[in-house]
Amino acid sequence: MPLSNRVCFLVNLRDALRCRQCDKVPQGPEGYHQGFEYHHRLPRSLGGSDEVDNIVLLCHACHQVGHKAPASHSERLCVLDLTPPASFLCWQCQSRLESRSVEMNCGWYRCRACQTQVHLYQHFYGALE
Ligand SMILES: [Zn+2]
Ligand SMILES: [Zn+2]
Ligand SMILES: [Zn+2]
Repeated sequence: MPLSNRVCFLVNLRDALRCRQCDKVPQGPEGYHQGFEYHHRLPRSLGGSDEVDNIVLLCHACHQVGHKAPASHSERLCVLDLTPPASFLCWQCQSRLESRSVEMNCGWYRCRACQTQVHLYQHFYGALE
């Protein structure tokens, strides 16, 4: 089962599209699709859920290392607070939007106040090129 759009969005919003292990940031708006992966902190095979508080965004390299040598990896990840923000400000008009009810897809949200569709890359790293 792929993650739901809501979970995917909330993970991306909380983690600012960057790797939570090494802080690598994506190279452009499509970059987070290429080379960034969703990691289950508690594996599904051990009963881990597909909920936001079990999923961390990692770059491909950190993800591979983490699965080969979980101990070195988990130290940092296991202390992270994985609660997503309850609300955030629209990048365009600064209206406060509720994370759990905003109209969104995995990589963007639409602001009810200004009707702008904002890509999360734009939200965190500035204008789209
Ligand atoms: Zn990384
Ligand atoms: Zn993983
Ligand atoms: Zn807005």
